[in-house]
Amino acid sequence: MPTSSPNPYLPFGENKHADWYGKDIISVKQFNRKDLEYIFGVAHEMRGMVERVGTFDLLKGKILANLFYEPSTRTSSSFTAAMERLGGSVIPINEVKYSSVTKGESLSDTIRTLECYADVIVLRHPETGSAAIAAKAAKKPIINAGDGIGEHPTQALLDTFTIMEELGRSSTGTRSGLENLTVTMLGDLKYGRTVHSLARLLSLFDNIKLNYVSPDILKMPKEVMDEVGAGNISQAEYSSLEKVLPETDVLYVTRVQKERFEDPADYEKVKGAYVIEPGMMKTAKQNMIVMHPLPRVTEISMDFDDDPRAAYFRQMEYGLYVRMALLAMVLGKA
Ligand code: ASP
Repeated sequence: MPTSSPNPYLPFGENKHADWYGKDIISVKQFNRKDLEYIFGVAHEMRGMVERVGTFDLLKGKILANLFYEPSTRTSSSFTAAMERLGGSVIPINEVKYSSVTKGESLSDTIRTLECYADVIVLRHPETGSAAIAAKAAKKPIINAGDGIGEHPTQALLDTFTIMEELGRSSTGTRSGLENLTVTMLGDLKYGRTVHSLARLLSLFDNIKLNYVSPDILKMPKEVMDEVGAGNISQAEYSSLEKVLPETDVLYVTRVQKERFEDPADYEKVKGAYVIEPGMMKTAKQNMIVMHPLPRVTEISMDFDDDPRAAYFRQMEYGLYVRMALLAMVLGKA
């Protein structure tokens, strides 16, 4: 991933949206196109700095509390890496069963405790709306790292940054445009918070076509489709990938979210509904990309990993730069 210079998101060094100091990041609904340009511009700078010097002292003396009530590998460790690459430090609470949560402490009280010690709190919680509740209790910034089946805004930002870096171009030559792209979301669109956030964020762009491919019981929620439909974007639902794969520029694959099913028998019915493997990808474009928020279970065969279109490992790296940007912004250093 070579870094091009000057910054393609902020070609004139513009800094119009530096007012994120102290803000919470709860939902992608908070962002407009200018915000995205700004965030991706900062992320681009972060990438250049990591490549040049690795770690630097922008957030020296600042402390992040990483509070995870649900399992996480990438989100938790990339926020830790982001904070440490910026010279800050981290209070890791990845296993709430060893904290006072098991004694019955409320989310609000836990948040009020952690903000006595930290400057910013990253929260993952199984209940939709929990990040907003935490933000109400807290004076320090809360960053939503996934609230149940609700949203995963930082994932959607890094997903959009990935699409921009890999495929984005605007007529003015900056990377801030996504023109004439067909994005196909595949798998568990009902419980997958990453696709709820990503579809909403992509609705800020004009020329995107969204295809939703899922089993009948895992369709994109109507509420999300209604919100996305308010933008200038087209949406269509399918049960089979075959028809839409040849036109797809971004294939966004998701895991069937076993832990969210009320009836395990329903999970068994749909768990292997789609599997991406090299043979079927012959009908896809050569310059398209396959993304996945990870972890994958069986929905992308490991035999596809060496295909240059497999962008899911690169996607994780873009996440580091976006999360560095977000931390610097809410702590008033970007
Ligand atoms: N890691 C993503 C999330 O936290 C996707 C997944 O778990 O399937 O939502």
